[in-house]
Amino acid sequence: MAGEQAVCCAQRVPRRDLSPTAPPRGDGRWLGDAVADLLTGSRCVGCATPGALLCTRCRDGLPTRAGPAVLDPWPRGLGPVWSAGPHAGVLRALVVGHKEESQLVLRAPLAALLALAVADGCAAVRHGAPVPGPLLLCPVPSRPGAARRRGHDPLGVVVARAARVLRRWGHDAHVADLLRQAPGVRGVRDQGELGAEGRATNVAGTLFCPTARLDRTARRHPHGRVVLCDDVVTTGATLQESSRALRAVGVPVLVAATITTTPRRSTPGRPGFPADSRARSLPPVGGTH
Ligand SMILES: [Zn+2]
Repeated sequence: MAGEQAVCCAQRVPRRDLSPTAPPRGDGRWLGDAVADLLTGSRCVGCATPGALLCTRCRDGLPTRAGPAVLDPWPRGLGPVWSAGPHAGVLRALVVGHKEESQLVLRAPLAALLALAVADGCAAVRHGAPVPGPLLLCPVPSRPGAARRRGHDPLGVVVARAARVLRRWGHDAHVADLLRQAPGVRGVRDQGELGAEGRATNVAGTLFCPTARLDRTARRHPHGRVVLCDDVVTTGATLQESSRALRAVGVPVLVAATITTTPRRSTPGRPGFPADSRARSLPPVGGTH
């Protein structure tokens, strides 16, 4: 295993990694999108300039450093969370465009941004030392039926691609799809409708790690370190529940990484992501090594 080769210094993102690219051949939706673009013309999701879905100016304005998310209150048992930036402007447009409007070419910049949060988060919790084992990127499961409704699994695809980006940057990174919705869980509401407390209650006890998945991952990567991945963190309730489910089977989470951080609704205007992220101390570390 090549875990000791993991490079964990603060990451610089090559601009080409932030450019939209076509999904792999054989993805029928890509053809549909291309035809739609021909018929309607496309516009930049960030500034609406006609042309590419992400113009050069908006791409060049994307973050090149991730920072620690600021959650208040900090969910009990949740370790550090790192994000590429606030859920606003171009970043928000990228996440929403990909997730809700199936603009699949945006998966490339989103994967690079998630990879950035993973790399910088690992570097921070390890104080710059290499991670002693492969990085196992574990996506947070989507709500039951969400992938079916959208017709694709936006987070799963971005996490898989982020692992490839991280390998290109020199990390030993893999996907470890360890979590599932617990059987019999019904009626989980959309987290967007709820406040912090409601969100935590809504998802508590809803996830678990199937033994077969855990065993398979442990066989493949016995010294792997799990990094939880989600697209957006708001109150941290889903990441908290994911951490709990992994801890319940003896798997600590090194760090959680998200593309964006949403300011809390109860404190409008309050930034969920500090401008000078590196000046802030990290939240309490739970389960890091
Ligand atoms: Zn633009």
